[in-house]
Amino acid sequence: MGTPMADPAVPEDYAHLLSAPELRAAWEEEVASRQAEARKIQHLLDYRERRLAQEQPKHTFRRSAVLKAVHREIALVLGVPEGQIYRMLSTASTAQEWLPRTWEAYRAGIVDADRVQKVAEGAGDLIETNSGDRQVQRELTAALDTRFCVPAAGDHRNTVARAVRDTVAELDTAGHQRRYEIAQNTRHVSFVALDNGMTLMKALLPTLVLASVEERLHAAAATATRKQKNAAGETAEVGYHQRMADTLTGWLLTGSGAEVTDSQQGGTAGINITIPLETVTEASDAPATSTDGRFILPAAQARAIMNDPKVEKTFYLTGTRTAPDGNQQSVRIVKLGSDHPLDNLARAERPEGSEQASSRLTEKLLSGTNILETVSSARFVTGNLRRAVLLRDGRCQAEGCLEPGFRADLDHITSYETGGATNAANTQVLCHHHHEIKSHGLLPELSTGTDPPPEWATGD
Ligand SMILES: [Zn+2]
Repeated sequence: MGTPMADPAVPEDYAHLLSAPELRAAWEEEVASRQAEARKIQHLLDYRERRLAQEQPKHTFRRSAVLKAVHREIALVLGVPEGQIYRMLSTASTAQEWLPRTWEAYRAGIVDADRVQKVAEGAGDLIETNSGDRQVQRELTAALDTRFCVPAAGDHRNTVARAVRDTVAELDTAGHQRRYEIAQNTRHVSFVALDNGMTLMKALLPTLVLASVEERLHAAAATATRKQKNAAGETAEVGYHQRMADTLTGWLLTGSGAEVTDSQQGGTAGINITIPLETVTEASDAPATSTDGRFILPAAQARAIMNDPKVEKTFYLTGTRTAPDGNQQSVRIVKLGSDHPLDNLARAERPEGSEQASSRLTEKLLSGTNILETVSSARFVTGNLRRAVLLRDGRCQAEGCLEPGFRADLDHITSYETGGATNAANTQVLCHHHHEIKSHGLLPELSTGTDPPPEWATGD
């Protein structure tokens, strides 16, 4: 009985981990627990089906009550909250109906429940924004299913969530635009007083505003004085997150309503957005992405920012190449300055003139100075070179890490002390955590050495 067990999808540089006996055994247990979980869910779906057949509710209200009762019965037996049962069964039935290949992969233990949930949420968005057109719903969810039913090397729950997000937005740009507009109406602020003199403030605000606030808070915390007087008048060390909180407090208490701009784009200071060429020329409505991958924007919003004279901007052109692993690699970055890269003539002719606009931008990309080729004799990466590496990498370059560039370090791949150059080829974005691991020679994919796998990994 039984089919040979699939290997976990680890990155190439970590393949040696599969021969570590403890990790091999842990993987086998992981697969077994996914298979057991899938069987458990199937029992619950069968039970729900049988109870519905018994009760035969004629009215939708009655049907809804029966379902709630069934979820409650399951929750009582398994000892978990009813809401959790509802979410688990919703995910499973969406997956069974719309994502058959992903569901099969889960049943076989090849992908985990978290991945199924993320893909099912994406499918839910596609189904909702295309309600009434079953054919389109089928096509879009099938594309999602095909893309995510097989794990890729280095897949990680965070990177998969982003890939699902981007794929859903690309498959259905109009639906993404609608969801974006509806979500703007859910903005709110709430306060919960705790028993210890603290209050939890929650604010749901447009990402375009908060992404910029987040970056500015980090910048402020990094430069604020660490020693401050406390309530008792003693000088004490103030931690990084406390400095962020203190800065925000200052803004909240001294800020005035007069500063609020009439444009949603008013708070975009410091953020970088990558807009596909076809979106700029209006040949397509492909979404734009923040350069560090934190969020995506529908084409209409990205173009509105580009064209808004009140938003201060610096434009860059990036030329990419498809790497052997299928990912896009930035190989040319040209700084254009603050003027819209398409002059008024070309803009007026769009979208008819989109081909002309496209070749004009390509010309500028090829004739401009590639700031990725900036060379410096200094130890630290600054100026155009720093900007170029941040635009190229966006976020920490360790597999599965999402730490954005503004919170990370610029690392010499071969250290400056051992002769490494200060240029783009020898520089990468690394978060503090992965920088520390790499500096001890323990991040194989990011180190230049070709050391054999360490002994502990092979169990010898
Ligand atoms: Zn990292």
